Amino acid sequence: MIQLYIPLSFLGVLYREIKQSLADMERLFLLLDQNREVADTAKAVELVATGAEVRFAQVDFSYDPNRQILFDVDFTIAAGTTTAVVGHSGSGKSTLARLLFRFYDVNSGAITIDGKDLRDVSQASLRHAIGIVPQDTVLFNDTIEYNIAYGRTGASKEEVIAAARAAYIHDFIETLPEGYATMVGERGLKLSGGEKQRVAIARAVLKNPAILIFDEATSALDSKAEQAIQAQLKEIARNRTTLVIAHRLSTIADAAQILVLDHGRVVERGTHVSLLADDGVYAQMWQRQQVRQDEGGADGADVSAS
Ligand code: ADP
Ligand code: MG
Repeated sequence: MIQLYIPLSFLGVLYREIKQSLADMERLFLLLDQNREVADTAKAVELVATGAEVRFAQVDFSYDPNRQILFDVDFTIAAGTTTAVVGHSGSGKSTLARLLFRFYDVNSGAITIDGKDLRDVSQASLRHAIGIVPQDTVLFNDTIEYNIAYGRTGASKEEVIAAARAAYIHDFIETLPEGYATMVGERGLKLSGGEKQRVAIARAVLKNPAILIFDEATSALDSKAEQAIQAQLKEIARNRTTLVIAHRLSTIADAAQILVLDHGRVVERGTHVSLLADDGVYAQMWQRQQVRQDEGGADGADVSAS
């Protein structure tokens, strides 16, 4: 538990770090109200994401005024479909996820869910509607059961176990000396990057949100473990509005829409098949990946190391 006598300046640093990793914000928001860069307006309404169509409309964004990160980004994720974003490290992929979760507001343009501007809905209802498997998962110093159940307060033990099974982490947990009661986090058992990602996946399964964001959700897994879990992720994403930031292109070949982001601009869009036919940036990435796989280095197939 965060203790209230921690100086606010430290909380500011902590807040930024956590925000960066897109993790575990809901629990901290209550404590950090003063430090929020975005706030509910007086007339904020509850978002009821039903179909959950996501739209980025001519979005410009910069973290600091003298360096623009996103330029006129414009796309729609039709309700219940998957859009994948690929691009080199630093091209702005995770920034899209941060904006959809409204860690920051856009400079110009708008982001809407079912036609509602994110700035007009309460943050609590927005974050309720979205589940994220982030690049780096932060664990609480608590039991592994708590860390999974955090996806949905009030979940039963059976539901937690079902989510853990879906994320392929149940068997691992069973081998721990205290099973689901094992303490994890900085002061407990330190989990590997891959294990933490599975905890995050289990959280998302349990949360069962209208909108899912996978930010290189399997990047810390070796390629064999990744293949095992990919089918599961597809199952979770089925008929759900999903933004996938792709680590390996082979995992997103059946996405309804693929966007290629380059220096903050969408430079290509289409399906896997149409993008290959276009013979542009995506086709080059794909070919490079095939070559590396033929060389046996599936891990070398990353198009986006961070
Ligand atoms: P990607 O996920 O595609 O690797 P990001 O969206 O994380 O890229 O970052 C896009 C750009 O924004 C990078 O140049 C990165 O350095 C910059 N950036 C990311 N977070 C911040 C931040 N909090 N403050 C300033 N610049 C940032
Ligand atoms: Mg990223």
